[in-house]
Amino acid sequence: MKFTDFGIDKEIIDVANSLSFDFSEIDSIAESNQLKILKAFHDNKISEAHLQGTNGYGYNDIGRDAVDRVFAQVFGAEDALVRYNFINGTHAISTAITAVLRPNDVLLSFGKPYDTLNEVMHSLSEFNINYVELSLEDDLLSSIKSHNPKAVFIQKSKGYQDRKSFSSSELNELCDKIKKEYPSVCIIIDNCYGELTELEEPNHADLIAGSLIKNLGGGIAQTGGYIVGKSDLINKCADRLCSVGIGKEAGATFNANREILQGLFNAPLVVNQAVKGAIFCAKLFEQFGYKTNPAGNKKRFDLIQSVKLSNPNEVVSFCQGVQTAGAIDSFVNLAPWTMPGYDCEVVMASGSFVAGSSMELSADAPIKPPYIVYFQGGLSFTQCKLGAMLALNNIIHPRQ
Ligand SMILES: *Cc1c(COP(=O)(O)O)cnc(C)c1O
Repeated sequence: MKFTDFGIDKEIIDVANSLSFDFSEIDSIAESNQLKILKAFHDNKISEAHLQGTNGYGYNDIGRDAVDRVFAQVFGAEDALVRYNFINGTHAISTAITAVLRPNDVLLSFGKPYDTLNEVMHSLSEFNINYVELSLEDDLLSSIKSHNPKAVFIQKSKGYQDRKSFSSSELNELCDKIKKEYPSVCIIIDNCYGELTELEEPNHADLIAGSLIKNLGGGIAQTGGYIVGKSDLINKCADRLCSVGIGKEAGATFNANREILQGLFNAPLVVNQAVKGAIFCAKLFEQFGYKTNPAGNKKRFDLIQSVKLSNPNEVVSFCQGVQTAGAIDSFVNLAPWTMPGYDCEVVMASGSFVAGSSMELSADAPIKPPYIVYFQGGLSFTQCKLGAMLALNNIIHPRQ
């Protein structure tokens, strides 16, 4: 079977075939991360017993404890809290924030956090916690001096903003600078979409959090999130997620340990496929005159690819193409809708095995200028190629 069998224009296929890629660095990142994860499995002697879960109170769940140790080792962190009970990344990140801050503390955010965290940040005032948001142009060190924050929050990925994503080494250097002058400031990093895209993680921070239905779930974990970092702070996070006095000691896991371990094992491979997919999408659209961020020849620090389109029809056509490439719900016709929390209509393409998983191929966009659409995820490079080509095909040959 060939791409032509999906009704893609020959011109698009010819251009796609003429694109050149050098995936050697991306493949060596995947290799290094796969070995790092395997080493963590070996060093922690992961065995069949760890794949079993518990019920009831979930005391003595050796699988749950092993999952935490494996994640901690992969991140080079002291400890981890990996739980399917985290609903998503927002929940894991907000748990980290609220675990650390106390009344009269200040939280300083370096840059605007992801949309879903807005309400979290603004609710802090109910607890007499002061929230201060800097722009990325502000001088972080002098702001720390003037605001004396308990914690600094930084988002690695650009998410849905028009900026560069931070590399792990940029973040680690920034953490080192902060720690040198202000050793007691707690640095919390939103690592969503960034995991395993580089050789290193931003592990000079005190707490790093993310979702298991993105990169680290490897397309296998069905729900959940993680926090890794300093062990005293991880204990506070566990108290916050569960209850003081329970912390990391209890919590049934059912079948989650197996999925989380298998997902982590799988993650370097699927991240590799998704990064290749994002690069393919960028290069293909660039050939047809579209602006992309990051550009197809740029290094990647996360999975998000944005493409600037020209009008609402192109946005819907793009997302419809990605929807048509899905393994699930490929036949669905997308329509823009006004989602709660948005000030305009949005359109979302997602045909995933795990509901809403953006580790799987997906695309979304608000229907408003500058008409930027976000393309992300994909468990298989071939499927990403199909999605990008169908997206372009729909734009060039709009359906009536
Ligand atoms: C996805 C994401 C989050 C959290 O989103 P959830 O849907 O709650 O998992 C936070 N920050 C960034 C940068 C993200 O990409």
